[in-house]
Amino acid sequence: MPDSRNFYINGQWVAPATANDLDVINPSTEEVCATISLGGQADVDAAVAAARAAFETWSKSSKAERLALLHRVLEVYKARAGDMAEAISTEMGAPIDLAKTSQVGAGAFHIQNFIRALEGFEFEQPLGDHAPNDRIIHEGVGVVGMITPWNWPINQVTLKVIPAIAAGCSMVLKPSEIAPLSGLLFAEIMDEAGVPAGVFNLVNGDGAGVGTMLTSHPGVDAISFTGSTRAGIAISKSAADTLKPVHLELGGKGANVIFADADEKAVKRGAQHCFNNTGQSCNAPTRMLVERSIYDSAVEIAAATAESTATGMAAEPGRHIGPLVSQAQWDKVQGLIEKGMAEGARLVAGGPGRPEGVNRGYFVRPTVFADVSNDMTIAREEIFGPVLSIIPFEDEEDAVRIANDTEYGLTNYVQSQDGAKRNRMARRLRSGMVEMNGQSRGAGAPFGGMKKSGNGREGGVWGLMDFLEVKAVSGWSPEDA
Ligand code: NAD
Repeated sequence: MPDSRNFYINGQWVAPATANDLDVINPSTEEVCATISLGGQADVDAAVAAARAAFETWSKSSKAERLALLHRVLEVYKARAGDMAEAISTEMGAPIDLAKTSQVGAGAFHIQNFIRALEGFEFEQPLGDHAPNDRIIHEGVGVVGMITPWNWPINQVTLKVIPAIAAGCSMVLKPSEIAPLSGLLFAEIMDEAGVPAGVFNLVNGDGAGVGTMLTSHPGVDAISFTGSTRAGIAISKSAADTLKPVHLELGGKGANVIFADADEKAVKRGAQHCFNNTGQSCNAPTRMLVERSIYDSAVEIAAATAESTATGMAAEPGRHIGPLVSQAQWDKVQGLIEKGMAEGARLVAGGPGRPEGVNRGYFVRPTVFADVSNDMTIAREEIFGPVLSIIPFEDEEDAVRIANDTEYGLTNYVQSQDGAKRNRMARRLRSGMVEMNGQSRGAGAPFGGMKKSGNGREGGVWGLMDFLEVKAVSGWSPEDA
């Protein structure tokens, strides 16, 4: 393992230009588990210059070369899966089994899916039979600045780095400063897989520093960002002067609409989904909308699910949930639980403070509020903790109204055995994704949001398109192609 203070620039591990250290905290123990450097302008400039030079050659690489490279990345990634799970579990608190299966598994899944998407993608396409001398050419957008969060760290990194390589781009990645260890390990994987020098670069840093330097940099052609809506707005403003496209994957406040004819496991499944990853998922179904006739029993089942959800150290195997990522996140979640109580929601499970017997680590109690109205703070703000809000509804019309009454639009969920009703709901819900009856999206489906959940679409062909320019050519000679 290279020194965690170093950056990966132009195929080399290099020391930062200026020493500015930050400790990484293990959220289960509150102890320092590593130290990284926060980069400065000279580090960012060096990484961007390396990426600019590499773009000249990598953008001209063939599809076969890119595919061969991605296959090598997948192979090395799989070989380092155990190390990656440990890094993620240590830095952000995902229980080790969840880290292995879901967190690390998501990375392999995305690499595989992008290989498939690239195989089927034609970079040069005819416009149509009506215009035989026209061609639509797709080419890499250039040097991409990538800024990622801590909650699904490698999921996010692979959703950006892999399609950018497939598109012929070069890049500078700034992982979350809270969870940078998985990003450092990912850079090692890229190195071992033989990614050409300068195509992939990593500079650690915080949002105000390296983040802003990347978004405003004249040598960066596009930004791909995943994180909070707050930062997404700041990034869009910072990128505006250089007119670079900004792809945003932001927060969410998903509704899970449970109709009276839902399958019997729907409520339990929805509560577990909300608590998964300790509630730290942008697409978590945090507002459970329940049809009035099954409301009381749904509240009981959700409360029982919370009570039976164990919390525990991230390093321990098992199906428990881990701590929140940081003291700041713990304080924020506590504040919102208090606010829910103060605004009159009915606390039916969990509540403020740490779970019983725990006095160390950023652990919280899985919490359920009933009788929530959609204008309460806990129904409007992204909590990012294991806190479920249950809201009753009268009929389909009412459910659509409440579900859509939010600034966000990432994933909504529907539970019903009536296919026609599900299809109507899917059309009417204003979100980038609608998942129904516990069925997750298929491989290659686009992930992304509407409204304040962002504008990007990651995964499959849509994920490639975020990193491609589209060029219209006329006077093309098909015989000479
Ligand atoms: P955050 O916005 O605080 O930080 C995300 C990243 O942005 C970090 O690398 C941070 O250093 C950087 N950053 C912060 N301010 C910046 C600025 N002004 N300029 C440039 N970079 C800046 O988010 P977080 O707390 O790390 O992650 C949680 C958030 O991410 C939640 O809101 C969650 O919903 C969202 N998220 C969205 C998706 C999605 O695909 N829609 C996926 C995962 C997480």
